[in-house]
Amino acid sequence: MRLTVLGGCGVWPDAGQACSGYLVEHDGFRLLVDVGYATALRLLERITADQVDAVFISHGHPDHCADLNPLLRARALRDDPPAPLPVYALPGALDAVLALDRPGMLDAAYVLHEFTAGTHLDIGPFRAQTRPLPHFVPNAGVRLAAGGRVLAYTGDSGPSPDVVELARGADVLLAEATYLDQVPPDSRRYQSSACQAGRQAADADVGHLILTDLQPGTDPAAARCAARDGYGGPVDVAVADLLVDLP
Ligand SMILES: [Zn+2]
Repeated sequence: MRLTVLGGCGVWPDAGQACSGYLVEHDGFRLLVDVGYATALRLLERITADQVDAVFISHGHPDHCADLNPLLRARALRDDPPAPLPVYALPGALDAVLALDRPGMLDAAYVLHEFTAGTHLDIGPFRAQTRPLPHFVPNAGVRLAAGGRVLAYTGDSGPSPDVVELARGADVLLAEATYLDQVPPDSRRYQSSACQAGRQAADADVGHLILTDLQPGTDPAAARCAARDGYGGPVDVAVADLLVDLP
């Protein structure tokens, strides 16, 4: 399994940095996990739009799904459109982004598979176990297994025993860490800090922690440092071009 980060900016795209978007490949199958602002640009620097085999969206915030629109346009409006793209999302999560264009214009470009968080999905070679995690809107964390390797991704989530369960023993945990250490009171249940991500990575005994969704302006070195307070394994920050092979 191979993870390529397209972007890991939280909230809005910073100069030169896209929001959440992760290309996960195994056995020639390309799964795109979240398609936040500006990730289509990063994706199309690497592969063509028709080379994406499936999309999984954690939740309906636009910094995680807005660029589904340009991706679908790039497939639907070409002279020889590819087969419809399977898109997995929570019920209603994509209503807004799928309504951006004239009704019907993009309908042939995708097949929407709405799922209930907590169920498992088979997506190409990936077994995807989903889990509801606390956020301002319904959010599904996902544990992707293929070839004996496991990548866990929180989407956006407050600290929760469910994050630890999602990530238990994973080779890589890709964890939202919007803040360094202090989370504002009104967000404490729904967003996390790098400190909390580190502690949860340790509790779940993961092999590698990748912090993502950092608020623009956050010092990546400070985020890594905050996570290392609680976690002794390798820590990275998700930025475009970070490539991790899960051997
Ligand atoms: Zn969110």
